[in-house]
Amino acid sequence: MQAMTASGRAGVPGSLPPLRERGWRSGLVQLGLYLLGLGALAFIPFLPPGLAGIPVYGPFLCIAVAVALAIPFNRGRAVMAACCLAFVYSLHLARAFVSPHAFLLGAVLVPVDIAIIAAFRERGALSRHTLRQALFVAVQVGFAAWLVSQGLWEVLLGKLPATWTSSAHALPPFVLGAVAVAGLASAVVMWSRRTAIDAALCSAVIATATGFWMIDVPHGLPVLLATAALGIAIGVLQDAHRFAFFDELTGLPARRALEEKLLALTDRFAIAMVDVDHFKRVNDDHGHDTGDQVLRMIAVHLSNVGGGARAYRYGGEEFAIVFPGRSAREAVPHLEALRVGVADYVLYLRADGASTADADPKKQRRRTAHGLKVTISIGIAERDPRLNRPDHVLRAADQALYRAKARGRNRISR
Ligand code: GH3
Ligand code: MG
Ligand code: MG
Repeated sequence: MQAMTASGRAGVPGSLPPLRERGWRSGLVQLGLYLLGLGALAFIPFLPPGLAGIPVYGPFLCIAVAVALAIPFNRGRAVMAACCLAFVYSLHLARAFVSPHAFLLGAVLVPVDIAIIAAFRERGALSRHTLRQALFVAVQVGFAAWLVSQGLWEVLLGKLPATWTSSAHALPPFVLGAVAVAGLASAVVMWSRRTAIDAALCSAVIATATGFWMIDVPHGLPVLLATAALGIAIGVLQDAHRFAFFDELTGLPARRALEEKLLALTDRFAIAMVDVDHFKRVNDDHGHDTGDQVLRMIAVHLSNVGGGARAYRYGGEEFAIVFPGRSAREAVPHLEALRVGVADYVLYLRADGASTADADPKKQRRRTAHGLKVTISIGIAERDPRLNRPDHVLRAADQALYRAKARGRNRISR
């Protein structure tokens, strides 16, 4: 018999929660983009003369795209990170007019700032918190400009130990150290949150740092900054896609994703509707947070259902499972395994889980005394000459689900 606690992350031993898998995908997309950015450097000398301006204006264009996407999608951290990229690129373009070492300031500040921004919680693009972050960056820009204009940055560099600043390469060890810490910190944040935006911010730190590392390579910094900005834009889009098509609580694809899937179904298929039995009682007796944990646990079972099926959160405590290329008869053994797996599963409720929503001592006692078990009812229908539209099959599965409830629950009906 499997078991888990109601606190911490839900998981069936030997499997990964779906959210994790998607986090990996975002990381891979960012890695691919980073490698593409490096590869693009090789082609820049071969650009036709009409496009020669692209390596110069390209970063601003990509930054504008990132900001234009991040504001309507309300992603404040992405807006701030893109602004940091604009700052450092402006500094780079002005390098002929300011201190030759001014770019070292940008090389330290920007990766560190993006790592700090990555560590913040998302608060929306135009919120007070984001404005405060913008002020934090603006103060730095002002301070950096003042340091450089007064010649104090040069003086400060002269006062650093020689081993910190002397290097055969463009980047002295103190910059490399700061950038390495920033890269590591943003990687830790990405690892713990596994969202597309965190992957994009980590990638932006690494791309910016690489750009500075390649400062002597023609167009090295602009191309890498453009890559960082594009990565942020892609992160925002992936995040928006996740919100539209995935359910935040369970990590399963949401109803919208199911509707898209239904459009694409042809030939043979079966659809099952799943509903948690007496779920209202779980909420009433153990609290809404425990109810949420139960839904997550069931989602993990659903995401492991066999037969090439895919599970979706239909809404509330109802789920839909699509079996492409299968008849209802072929789907039943997989659904039976699912039903038994959920019914046998014990959700052990942690005593200190009582700190959540309800402080009712009676409920708390019930929490500590028992493991919690729930059952599910399932209705299944398949495509046939009578039901040849996916939405009709879904409705038939829903009616079958009602029959399963009426016959006593914890069962499958056709
Ligand atoms: P039945 O066996 O007939 O399905 O009974 P039921 O109690 O499961 O059905 P009912 O429709 O009466 O109750 C469903 C409950 O599910 C009510 C609602 O508060 C709860 N619910 C819906 N969505 C969520 C959610 O995201 N989290 C939690 N904790 N509860 C939810
Ligand atoms: Mg229901
Ligand atoms: Mg129910």
